Amino acid sequence: MSKSSFFDYNDTIASISTAWGEAGIAIVRLSGPQSLDLAEKVFKGIKPLKDTPPRYMRNGFLIDENGDCLDEVLGVWFRAPKSYTAEDVVEIHCHGGLLVASKCLDMLLSHGARLAEPGEFTQRAFLNGRIDLTQAEAVLGIIKAKSDEALRAAARTLRGELSKRIEVVYDSLLDLSANLEANLDFPEEDIPYLSPDEVLKRLNEISASLRDLASRCKVGRTLRDGIKVAIVGRPNVGKSSIFNALLDETRAIVTPIPGTTRDIVEGMIVHRGIPITFMDTAGLRVTDDIVESIGVGMAQRALKEADLKLWIIDGSESLMQEDLNLADEIKNHPHIVAINKADIPQAISQEDLMAILPDSEIVVLSAFDKNAIVELKERIVRKLIKDSAINEGFNATARQIDMLKNVQACVDNAIASLHAGEPEELIASNLLEAKYYLDRLLGRSFDEDLIHAIFSQFCVGK
Ligand code: GDP
Repeated sequence: MSKSSFFDYNDTIASISTAWGEAGIAIVRLSGPQSLDLAEKVFKGIKPLKDTPPRYMRNGFLIDENGDCLDEVLGVWFRAPKSYTAEDVVEIHCHGGLLVASKCLDMLLSHGARLAEPGEFTQRAFLNGRIDLTQAEAVLGIIKAKSDEALRAAARTLRGELSKRIEVVYDSLLDLSANLEANLDFPEEDIPYLSPDEVLKRLNEISASLRDLASRCKVGRTLRDGIKVAIVGRPNVGKSSIFNALLDETRAIVTPIPGTTRDIVEGMIVHRGIPITFMDTAGLRVTDDIVESIGVGMAQRALKEADLKLWIIDGSESLMQEDLNLADEIKNHPHIVAINKADIPQAISQEDLMAILPDSEIVVLSAFDKNAIVELKERIVRKLIKDSAINEGFNATARQIDMLKNVQACVDNAIASLHAGEPEELIASNLLEAKYYLDRLLGRSFDEDLIHAIFSQFCVGK
């Protein structure tokens, strides 16, 4: 679908682009062909804005419909296409305050501007071809970044590094696909014939690049969204104590009576730039108590959502049937086993655990040992993200990771077809399908729903 067929470019949008509330300044932004004309109606400087060179700040006053001065402001304009949206853009910088920025916006709307939809400025930058879809989505990553590392991953994507890498894959795929198609359509022509070995070699290279991209995107996503860790174990093993120690504060109610932690208590820390949310779950056991069984249900859902399960065992007691059931439940998910209460005489050892979970990472610790708790945080991060990868992540959304997976599946299907000696038509059609997903990933082909889904996540004014 062409970029302009379902979007109206002729109107001029306006909104307050700074955060809502009292602040030093507030910026009201306009974008579209009428930006300058509309701004002139409310902004009065020594000279009109249109006689001020683009990108130069002009001092002036905000004047209402009665000619009264509301504020002393600064005005600046950007000439299309050298602006955020690639359209004419005007910014009016008022003093920060709820009323003055709203008045300025209201006046612009009454003169004919339209209130911008969430993310519409960035959407226009995309529709006008100034940025591609991965970059537009990276803007959102920058706004939402909660740590330095996440911010850097988003900035790498915004600079176009992710798109460039995707384009390299795209070009090799296109090249290969064109070659296969040409040989199918015009076998007698002088187009270099690629041997099956050569096709396989190229497909394997594409597949490896895709895998590398996908793992970098996953790292970027972890940096942005963080890790969810569910703390599980039967009652009284020390889950709440470890939860509090991890958060370094007393949040969960720690009590020696089994089954008293009835809700999930959540807490977040940032460790090595990664937001980690810990969820302290109620004891996962069958119970007749209605309140407790609600807690257990919630715990089970949290357990499903978590990226990692931290299974706590009381080292001072022998393993019980409940423990064995839990071991069975978590063995196929990423997990770490912590044998707690190492400060008192032990009834079980690391070896006992290895006998039931031979491939698990097992730590022995005490909730009261600060160093052991720091080490535990390290292990949690290392379990999900390689040290070297932290500085190579790309900010990617769930949508982009999904598209990459689809492309990978098509390329892997093509490889399988080739191995099975299937006709070249099949391989060519797999590659065409891969190209379709790459087009959507980069935003070269899209529809209204996709655009809406992406930009509606932005705040108004972005
Ligand atoms: P939960 O039911 O699994 O959340 O367990 P709690 O955190 O409420 O702890 C149950 C009891 O075990 C409390 O009396 C804690 O003080 C105690 N406890 C927790 N961790 C340790 C530990 O490492 N060593 C010792 N000695 N006691 C602990």
